[in-house]
Amino acid sequence: MKVLRLRPGKERSLQRRHPWIFESAIAKGGADAGETVRIESGDGQFLAWAAFSPNSKIRARAWSFDEKQRIDAAFFAARVASAVAARELFDLQSDGVRLIHGEADGLPGLIVDRYGDTLVAQFLSAGVERWKGALADALLAATGLQKLYERSDASGREREGLPPVTGWLRGHGETELTIREHEWRLGLDVATGHKTGFYLDQRDSRKRFAELAARRRFRRVLNCFCYTGGFTVAALAGLKSAGAVSGAELISIDSSLPALERARAHLALNGFEEAQAEFLDADVNASLRRFVEEGRSFDAIVLDPPKFAPTVAHAERAARAYKDLNRQAFKLLAPGGHLLTFSCSGGIGADLFHKIVASAGIDAGVDGYITERLGAAPDHPMTIEFPEGEYLKGLVVVRK
Ligand code: SAH
Repeated sequence: MKVLRLRPGKERSLQRRHPWIFESAIAKGGADAGETVRIESGDGQFLAWAAFSPNSKIRARAWSFDEKQRIDAAFFAARVASAVAARELFDLQSDGVRLIHGEADGLPGLIVDRYGDTLVAQFLSAGVERWKGALADALLAATGLQKLYERSDASGREREGLPPVTGWLRGHGETELTIREHEWRLGLDVATGHKTGFYLDQRDSRKRFAELAARRRFRRVLNCFCYTGGFTVAALAGLKSAGAVSGAELISIDSSLPALERARAHLALNGFEEAQAEFLDADVNASLRRFVEEGRSFDAIVLDPPKFAPTVAHAERAARAYKDLNRQAFKLLAPGGHLLTFSCSGGIGADLFHKIVASAGIDAGVDGYITERLGAAPDHPMTIEFPEGEYLKGLVVVRK
């Protein structure tokens, strides 16, 4: 059995059950990629069992803090089963569900989403890569499903020194699927869509947007970074329930043409063919500036940009980008209008995001009420031991 010995004083975060062991904390020891190592403090005390990642700054990720725990196929079967069972505790109004959310589910580097009868997994660390076969078997056993598609083509793989891998890992079938979320339906392709195919984490914010659309009867809606139009469909569903689709104008912007084509198809899929919805294949920054110049305004704006700051190191530059976007959006917001603004950057905390949005408002000369804080849906949990799990945060700002 291989041992990683930490430098003196570096045991504290593991004692608090934080699962990451950084390269800089290690005094000596090594192993093969994904191999299980025993982590010991500077004075030789057991701290954790972990998977070794020879190429990553996060040099090892803890599997267990229990010295008696064996890290074997049965261990992974139990972890997978308990993560799947935990989803029963959450109120999930969809058949698209995140079943395994990495560290929060005790499986660092593993993401698994379920779309109906199809599972999609990302193996993003050397540890889960090594145990892929056992994990795949455990996933089928815990869910009773037969189809598992692998989408290990996320950028995190590179940091682990792992090549991209995609394709059916167990069973096979259609990659083009349709899910039901709240009161609407959405199509996706697990082979070509972003992440595992869809942004499940925004499920409940889309629902909230539908409710606001129904209450406030938005006339002019702008959905920026719309991807396949989830927030657009939500707005239409809300407006429809209030009998207010007619006369409403919706503009959705994204720079991905395939995503926009799917967004357009979502109108028919949900019976909104008649809606006045426009889909722009454009850069959001440029479009917002143009709309400001044209003197346009909107009753509701969604700003859901991609991750500008994957880590704290990128935070400063990302902060400027978020501020600029939010400033333009504020200028376009009608009095009484609602801005739903998000950041999915792990490197930007909730407080910092709040400050960025506030200073964007000040620069735009706009005051507003922050009426709600939004976050990832509960199947993307954050846990007490792993605060980095809070990556997605959102604010609802109502212009004075
Ligand atoms: N709100 C969406 C998810 C948005 S993900 C949902 O609910 O499903 C971020 C999106 O931003 C991606 O679809 C990506 O194609 C798009 N994007 C990234 N940079 C962009 C830019 N500069 N202009 C327009 N769209 C951009």
